[in-house]
Amino acid sequence: MQPVAHEDLVIRPTAPLLIVDVDEVLAHFMAGFERYVARHGVEMRIDRFALFQNLYRPGESEPLDFETGKALFDDFFRHGADDLDPVEGAADALASLSRRAGVVILTNAPAHALESRTGWLGKHGFDYPMILHSGLKGPAIAAMAARTSGPAAFIDDLLPNLESSAESAPAVARFQIIADPRLRPFAPTVPDRHDLHEDWATLGPALGKVIG
Ligand SMILES: [Mg+2]
Repeated sequence: MQPVAHEDLVIRPTAPLLIVDVDEVLAHFMAGFERYVARHGVEMRIDRFALFQNLYRPGESEPLDFETGKALFDDFFRHGADDLDPVEGAADALASLSRRAGVVILTNAPAHALESRTGWLGKHGFDYPMILHSGLKGPAIAAMAARTSGPAAFIDDLLPNLESSAESAPAVARFQIIADPRLRPFAPTVPDRHDLHEDWATLGPALGKVIG
């Protein structure tokens, strides 16, 4: 699969549209990052909804400093991001939904993640156009949804992106999934604003209702 720029993205003008995040939606990011940092002598203790603040040197009670955590994160996208487990049921659900809807992958990751990200998506059956993004996703979602008269939905794990989508593109249906069960209890959610799911077994059918 290939990454695309916004201006090259093909969106069918009347078809339903699904805009889908990767980490904690299609990919078990936390578990993969945990394996990666373990190879560097760092352990993950999931006791809050955060990334770097959950990284510790063994035996220490203070998390790693931000710079060290950020460096591990950046290196992960160079050397470790191929090693992510796909979220159960996601590929089959999207394959089925994509018979009626266009699917676009909208992922926030560093620019140097392009190759590992597209490679991972292709390898695990997510053969859809991917846009590598940074920052809140609402404006990008609004721009894509404006190109079809069909219904659209956005799926992400992070509340700020869902709120951003609600603000920029209120007509786009919003769904939240946090694939890692250890992270889920700490994740900020507003279920009556953004439909919350634990797995694709319920998310897939809910998306099916949106796209009709
Ligand atoms: Mg994510």
